[in-house]
Amino acid sequence: MTNPLSPDEQLLAWMTDIRRTLHQHPELALQEFRTAEYVSAKLAELGIAHQNGIAGTGIAAFIGEKKNGARSVALRADMDALPITEKTGLPFASQHDGVMHACGHDGHMAMLLGAAALLKKQARLPGRVVLLFQPAEEDEGGAEKMIAAGVLMGVDAIFGGHIERHYAVGEIAVQPGLICAFTDEFRINIRGPGGHAAKPHESADCIVAAAFLVTSLQTLVARETNPVYPAVVTVGKIHGGTASNVIADQVVLEGTIRTTHIAARENIFESLRRMALAVRDLYRTETELTLTPGYPPVINDQKIAEVARQAARQTVGENGVKSQPYPSLGGEDFSFYLKHIPGCFVRFGARRDDLPHANAHSPVFDFDERVLPVGAEFLARCALLFLQQAARD
Ligand SMILES: [Zn+2]
Ligand SMILES: [Zn+2]
Repeated sequence: MTNPLSPDEQLLAWMTDIRRTLHQHPELALQEFRTAEYVSAKLAELGIAHQNGIAGTGIAAFIGEKKNGARSVALRADMDALPITEKTGLPFASQHDGVMHACGHDGHMAMLLGAAALLKKQARLPGRVVLLFQPAEEDEGGAEKMIAAGVLMGVDAIFGGHIERHYAVGEIAVQPGLICAFTDEFRINIRGPGGHAAKPHESADCIVAAAFLVTSLQTLVARETNPVYPAVVTVGKIHGGTASNVIADQVVLEGTIRTTHIAARENIFESLRRMALAVRDLYRTETELTLTPGYPPVINDQKIAEVARQAARQTVGENGVKSQPYPSLGGEDFSFYLKHIPGCFVRFGARRDDLPHANAHSPVFDFDERVLPVGAEFLARCALLFLQQAARD
């Protein structure tokens, strides 16, 4: 007997076509209008009831019913692309200059639609599945906006995952506990009177102050953070100066702080404030620090991770189930859902061995499309297992 939760050739072709169509028409965070229209049409094709326009471009779709004490489980895919000009040379490359699906969210949507097709075919679902197509994962925290719009009302657990080149196709990494970091942003604005390059004594040099600060910030992790807690401080942007014979009157530094422990995070914030202020006294500049809290860490629930592990085992076999021994210092706004309900976020192996530099967020990013049926089956199994187990409890 064929397994009703394994995608057949027809479903595979359907998902591949969806991925490629979405890849050709990427849209940035909160602008996923065409994407939403396309996903909505695919859900209609499957005969699945859904609501459009949640948090702007988000969609919630519903399969099965939550009655007689049955539970409800959510599956989530993100929809947004990145401001990158694609250089893959793929026949289905982005048709929109400067915008690219360089993180695999096109694949996530195809997988979730695949899971929807598999679940829709189930004769009897012991509860309700809510499919969440969420805008703005890369920026703006679309998950938070979806939650504010009420998508988690009556939902008991949530599953999601990300395409990942650090694992091979046929591998799914499931890890309970913290798997993604706090992602906070900082901006330091250094200002001075500016002046003639030949008369430094009549001015305060913002470039020298900034250079000193960039070097000092390297000690935040190396010398001020407990080494057992992974952390990163990166200055990603530096802007200042207009001419070689002018002392710059302003330099702006921008960067990100990634931490995996609340105390380490607080400590880095405190030290960053101290260093920024010290530059003011050292170099006679005005210094202003702005700290912007980003996404909270993704912390997978132990019990729900066990359901995910079981679903992974059924999908890819015991050997395909991997752990994620170290947290990623990347961010992921799936964390917002986990502040409200328990859930599990996994990694779907999708490495292209022929493309060693196809990193996520790079203009040559691509993934192995054989991950699509794996993700679809895994997500469908997670939903089914959770509802079955909840019905037994
Ligand atoms: Zn990304
Ligand atoms: Zn992503």
